[in-house]
Amino acid sequence: MTTARRFGIASLAVILLGFAAAYYATAMALQGRLAAGVSMRDALLMLVAGVCVLMLLVFWRGVHGSVRCIGSQLENMTRTGEIGLVMTQGRHELAGVTRPLNEFFTNVRSQIEQLRSENRELQIQSRIAAAEKHHTEAIIFSISDAVLVTNQFDEVVLANPAAEDLLGFQLRTSVRRNIDKALGDARMVRLIRETRSHGREQSRKVVEHEIEYKGVRRTFAVTLSCVVGSGNQVSGVVAVLHDVTREKEIAKMKTDFVSNVSHELKTPLASIKAYVEMLQDGEVDDEETAGEFYGIIAKESERLHRLIENILSISRIESGVIKVVKEPLSLTAVAKQVLDVATVQADAKGVTLKRKLAPVYYQVDADSDMLYQVVMNLVSNAIKYTARSGTVAVNTDVDEARGVAICEVRDTGAGIPAEDLPHIFDKFYRVRANNELAKGTGLGLTLVKHMVETVHDGRLTVTSDEGKGSTFTVELPVLR
Ligand code: ADP
Repeated sequence: MTTARRFGIASLAVILLGFAAAYYATAMALQGRLAAGVSMRDALLMLVAGVCVLMLLVFWRGVHGSVRCIGSQLENMTRTGEIGLVMTQGRHELAGVTRPLNEFFTNVRSQIEQLRSENRELQIQSRIAAAEKHHTEAIIFSISDAVLVTNQFDEVVLANPAAEDLLGFQLRTSVRRNIDKALGDARMVRLIRETRSHGREQSRKVVEHEIEYKGVRRTFAVTLSCVVGSGNQVSGVVAVLHDVTREKEIAKMKTDFVSNVSHELKTPLASIKAYVEMLQDGEVDDEETAGEFYGIIAKESERLHRLIENILSISRIESGVIKVVKEPLSLTAVAKQVLDVATVQADAKGVTLKRKLAPVYYQVDADSDMLYQVVMNLVSNAIKYTARSGTVAVNTDVDEARGVAICEVRDTGAGIPAEDLPHIFDKFYRVRANNELAKGTGLGLTLVKHMVETVHDGRLTVTSDEGKGSTFTVELPVLR
């Protein structure tokens, strides 16, 4: 049995007893039949006491009912977590308690409401911040340049895979680690520290830095920027490493190209100018010398013309604007044409020309002018760099298994030193050891390489034995 029930029964019993006592006292008093020793005053006192007990009990019951009602409402609030107003259902015994309690609850409720709305706002902001962080990370991760972000304590905060790869660390294990320990590159560590300590005086700088990557030294333009926080304080550094190795190479190639071109153009021009001046000044009185001078001028003009043509062809091929007319051709037929013309040059030099040609029905898809130029350049070089009584052999063949037509130009000439071989196809590259053997521009092989490989998807290779001779081999896909 619950305490409330017990209390209810007890109260009922006392009320009944009070009623009984009051009734008895009243009845006795009215009938004048009072017990012996019980005076009228005592009977009245008992009556008043009974009525008081009755009233007290009635009041007590009211208070108890209100407390129970409030208690159950509070229990309900605790259970549901919802704060409401406390109602006493018409009972006013505890109004003095419920009013301030309700005021307090109203206050708490409005504060909770405010906290809830602030919490909702914070949740939204936190979601937006998380999405923005994710978005920023995705952007940084997709950048091909290496990006590294550090905080005000020089600890790694963020890095993209390119930075991990280049600087040799793992973001997973290096987050919040000092760059001293995370990065193996002492200069990068120093640069980041300097940028952070200089702070806003010099918030952005670009430094050139060399890093060995996959066994090759590469040059990077490192852009270091300070991250300035809300209180105008430097809260970190962002380092972006952009690989400029190729750009530097191209810039150097351009400078070299311009200086080489101007040098190469100047030489024949100076010669032409000198001979023309001598002729103009009347320094030549005999016809034979004049003829000789005209011959030199014609040769130098021709050299100049060839040089300019070669430069233009190379630049047209490199920029992809060259006009190519491809048609089915026989490499053997082209070799025959070249041999017919080159015989004069070979005879004049005392070099024997040999040939071993495949049947003409093997064809390649090629531009006839270019193919002629390719074979002619190789044969002409072979004759130029082969001493008297040497041999130049032109062989054509077909490798059916690989589906290629082959033209091989083999000579017994000066050969090419091993250290020069990797550069032989570079623009203006001339083998120092062979410079005296023939004049040239160092552009012929560059052009041949481009024509074979860039324009015709073929392959040009060279093998050479210094002092013994060289073999240049052209391979082009056979037309089926
Ligand atoms: P060049 O106009 O100087 O001949 P090339 O580009 O045709 O220019 O050749 C580049 C260099 O390669 C030449 O200067 C020469 O030293 C070398 N070379 C080319 N072909 C041969 C060869 N068959 N034998 C030896 N050296 C060669």
